[in-house]
Amino acid sequence: MTHTGMDADVVIAGAGPTGLMLACELRLAGVDVIVVERLPERTGESRAGGIHSRTLEVLDQRGILDRFLAVGELQPVGHFSGLYLDFDESESRHPYPLMILQSAIEQLLEEWAAELGVRVRRSAEVSGIAQDATGVTVELRTGEGQSATLRAGYLVGCDGGRSTVRKLAGIGFPGTAATMTALIGDVELPDLPEDYVWIRRCEGGDWSAIAFEPGWFRVIASDYDLVADRDEAPTFEQLRDTLIKLAGTDYGMHSPRWVSRFNDAARQAAQYRDGRVLLAGDAAHIHFPAGGQGLNMGVQDAVNLGWKLASVVRGQAPEALLDSYHTERHAVAERVLNNTRAQSALARPGAQTDALREVFGSLIVFDDVNRHLRGMLTALDIRYPVDGGHLLAGRRVPDADLKTADGDTRVYELLHTGRPVLLDLGGSAEVAAVGKGWADRVDFVEARSEDDFWPVPAIGEISAPAALLVRPDGHVAWAADADDAPDTAALRSALTTWFGPAQ
Ligand SMILES: Cc1cc2nc3c(=O)[nH]c(=O)nc-3n(C[C@H](O)[C@H](O)[C@H](O)COP(=O)(O)OP(=O)(O)OC[C@H]3O[C@@H](n4cnc5c(N)ncnc54)[C@H](O)[C@@H]3O)c2cc1C
Repeated sequence: MTHTGMDADVVIAGAGPTGLMLACELRLAGVDVIVVERLPERTGESRAGGIHSRTLEVLDQRGILDRFLAVGELQPVGHFSGLYLDFDESESRHPYPLMILQSAIEQLLEEWAAELGVRVRRSAEVSGIAQDATGVTVELRTGEGQSATLRAGYLVGCDGGRSTVRKLAGIGFPGTAATMTALIGDVELPDLPEDYVWIRRCEGGDWSAIAFEPGWFRVIASDYDLVADRDEAPTFEQLRDTLIKLAGTDYGMHSPRWVSRFNDAARQAAQYRDGRVLLAGDAAHIHFPAGGQGLNMGVQDAVNLGWKLASVVRGQAPEALLDSYHTERHAVAERVLNNTRAQSALARPGAQTDALREVFGSLIVFDDVNRHLRGMLTALDIRYPVDGGHLLAGRRVPDADLKTADGDTRVYELLHTGRPVLLDLGGSAEVAAVGKGWADRVDFVEARSEDDFWPVPAIGEISAPAALLVRPDGHVAWAADADDAPDTAALRSALTTWFGPAQ
């Protein structure tokens, strides 16, 4: 459905997890998209080590979760700055982190993108952008002395923490500077003692060795006396020297597969949208990778933005809908930046921090504290500022089991197409009548909930609603309780706000 004179409706810069997920969301909605990627091929770098419950749910909402479960390994626990958290009690069908390397995640997303017909153009680096009233012209560097131009309605920068798109758009990246340096490497460690560790604190920093694959360890050596030059490439020797400084030995490490560096700088784009240019993923936010939240946040940015951008591209919703992307996702990242700042503060060496950890450690075992922190790390407790008095409004919908005239299903199965769903669980003729006005873009489903009560993160159990409007990202735009007559005026208003005026 590309508009005349355009190469694509949307150009995405960057084929990392965020760019690939966004491209798939747009294709599901019938939008023509080109992903341009600077690198000639995927790096295979392991990077992120896992995904949390809400991202697992998002993949489930699109019917591709089994692919990830087949490759990854379920983890029984998570942590907050190395202090153990129990995820078992999460109010989710997937109450666990899934250990899966970023290289595998990217491969699976790339396969799904290919199935959906996403065009990925490699060796194409965004080097210039110019936007006007009708679109964006994107300049590409495509090789030594070679260039190309693409014209699209919108450009989304998913080009990582040093985002060129962000810089070219002149969007600020305020936040806090690095105070430490961590070296990280995937290596073989023949001499590691039996009690190898998650985080071992010592003078000057801490170190970890995590068994990722048989024979392979991820070693992280965090040095709090040093803020390294970002532009200097890290080496295996630096990793070895830092581990020796912290642990007194290198445990015989050899055969590095990947060596990298990170720090605790925490920054966030001042705006996620400047006209026809948007930012998502690390391009919009960077932080200390404690608790493994960055990739998750990028994938969820993509799922928040995809259907909104598709709706604007199709001309069904006004451009202002895109501002809700900034409102909703900027606030989420702000909170994550803060919790990672807290985690890096809790990790600093020294007697005061030891004492703070002891106190924090004695609190984390309380159910309420554990629930609060795991809701935050898993992103299950996110509530967007959606109008409507119902407890579910703005929250992600629970994946309840349903009975329909066509058989058994569950809420997330209804979201596989990426279309919004008006779910009538109470047989209300008024709800059905309102739904008819949006039948071209909102699926109407009549069903019965198998359970009288639904578990909701951060709240507990609530009575199953009588009707609800679920956005394609799985967040509730409107809901009605069984005891009350459905507020059809509010339903109409929610449908118009999120999906444009009735046909
Ligand atoms: C050590 C470590 C451990 C981590 N562990 C976790 C974890 O367990 N869980 C988690 O959720 N997150 C984790 N993260 C964070 C996670 O790796 C990032 O948040 C994630 O990669 C962000 O994805 P992205 O697609 O937004 O950006 P990126 O993965 O950085 O992808 C950006 C892409 O854009 C391309 N690009 C750059 N510039 C241009 C340009 N000008 N034109 C075209 N293409 C361009 C790049 O080549 C790249 O392919 C970890 C990070 C680190 C460093």
